[in-house]
Amino acid sequence: MLRIALPNKGRLADQSRDLFAEAGLNVLANGERALVASLGDVFEALFVRAQDIPEFVADGAADAGVTGLDLIAESSRELVELTDLGFGQCRLAVAVREDASVCSVAEIPGGARVATVFPAVTSRFFAERLRADLEIVPMSGAAEVAPHLGIAEVIVDLVSTGSTLRVNGLREVETILTSTARLVTSPAVMAPNGNGEAGEKARALDDLVAALTSVLRARGQRYVMANVPRSKLEAIKTVLPGLNGPTVVDILNGGDQVAVHAVVPASAIYRKIAELKALGAQGILVTRIERLMP
Ligand code: AMP
Repeated sequence: MLRIALPNKGRLADQSRDLFAEAGLNVLANGERALVASLGDVFEALFVRAQDIPEFVADGAADAGVTGLDLIAESSRELVELTDLGFGQCRLAVAVREDASVCSVAEIPGGARVATVFPAVTSRFFAERLRADLEIVPMSGAAEVAPHLGIAEVIVDLVSTGSTLRVNGLREVETILTSTARLVTSPAVMAPNGNGEAGEKARALDDLVAALTSVLRARGQRYVMANVPRSKLEAIKTVLPGLNGPTVVDILNGGDQVAVHAVVPASAIYRKIAELKALGAQGILVTRIERLMP
C-alpha cells in the first residue's frame, strides 16, 4: 500500500481530488471527514492540512503528498519533487503600504518589521539580500492586516489576484517565489534497494506520475475529426499539425472524401474549425481527451 497525503481543505483540496479521480484514482471515502480513504489500486489517501504535508512526507507518515511549493519551502524539510501539477498558482510577495516611498527590498528602511506566515522563507530571502536587519514578525494568518494594526511596516504574503493587497491598501514590491501544487516524496522512498534498483514504492510513484501528467497534458488538448476532400490534404496538414501530422483514414464509399483525426490545443479549436470549414470539411467532431501520453 502507498499512502498519499492530500489537502483536506483549502484551495488545493478540490483540484487534487479531481486530478486523482480523472487519473482513475477515485476517493472511496467512508464519509466526508474520513482521515484515510482508499484511492483504488495500491494507493490510499491521507487527508490532512496542506501545511502539514511536507512534515508527514518527510517523516514517512505518508509515502508522497500534494502540497504547494510555498509550504514545502517554508517547512525547510528535504523532499523530492516528483512533478509540478500546475494548479494552485500564486506568488509569495513582499508588500508595503501604498503610500510608502519604497520600490524594492533594498529601499526598505533599516529595522522595519515584516509580518508573515512564512518566517523561514522570508528570513532566508532577506539574508540573501543582505537585509538581516529587518525584523520578522511571525503570524498565523491575515498578515495583510498587520500594517493597519501598527505591528509591521512590511508584509510577506501569498498573492493570487492581488485583490487582498489592494483592499488592504498595500502594494507589491518584489516576488520571493512563485508557487504551484507539487507531488513530493521523501529521499528515503526514492533510495535504491540493495541491488541498486528503484524500490517498489518508487516504481509505483513513477506510474502515478505518468498517470497524473497524462491527465494534465490532456486537459489542454482536444481530439478533432473531420471529413475533408482528399485534394485539400496538403492545406489540411498546415491547419491540423497534430502530434505527428493528422491521421488520414479512408471512408468506405467516401468518394473523394477522407477522414482526418488530430490532437489540437483547446485554445486553438475555435480558429481551427473555421479554417477546416473553409477547406470544405464536413462532419467535424471535437472531443475531450482523458489521457495523453506522447
Ligand atoms: P488574492 O486576493 O487573490 O491575491 O489572494 C490572496 C489571499 O489568498 C492571501 O491571503 C493568500 O493567503 C491566499 N492565497 C492565494 N493563493 C493561494 C494559494 N495558492 N494557496 C493558498 N493560499 C492562497
